[in-house]
Amino acid sequence: MTDEINSLTELIREFAEKRDWGKFHIPKNLAMAVAGEAGEPVAEFQWLTPEESSKESPSDEMAHAIAMEIADVQIYLLRLADVLGVDISKVVRDKIDYNETRY
Ligand SMILES: [Mg+2]
Repeated sequence: MTDEINSLTELIREFAEKRDWGKFHIPKNLAMAVAGEAGEPVAEFQWLTPEESSKESPSDEMAHAIAMEIADVQIYLLRLADVLGVDISKVVRDKIDYNETRY
């Protein structure tokens, strides 16, 4: 695992442990949280035209809101991987290698 991914994983684990959230952070709940949060950036873009949703167009407020939703998804993914003992760096590289053979 890379140092930055490891550092973020530990930060999120400590945040959850301080709040005694371990009992809630079971794989089922975390997978559902990933799915729920993944819809939130979609909601930010939902009614925009393709042009309005381009990188140059969003207001600072909207760009911030989208970044925060991306963070939410990533936090739950990191927590899910941590709880399941998945090495994100390894599996992403493995998946990209596999995709190289498919596409
Ligand atoms: Mg969110």
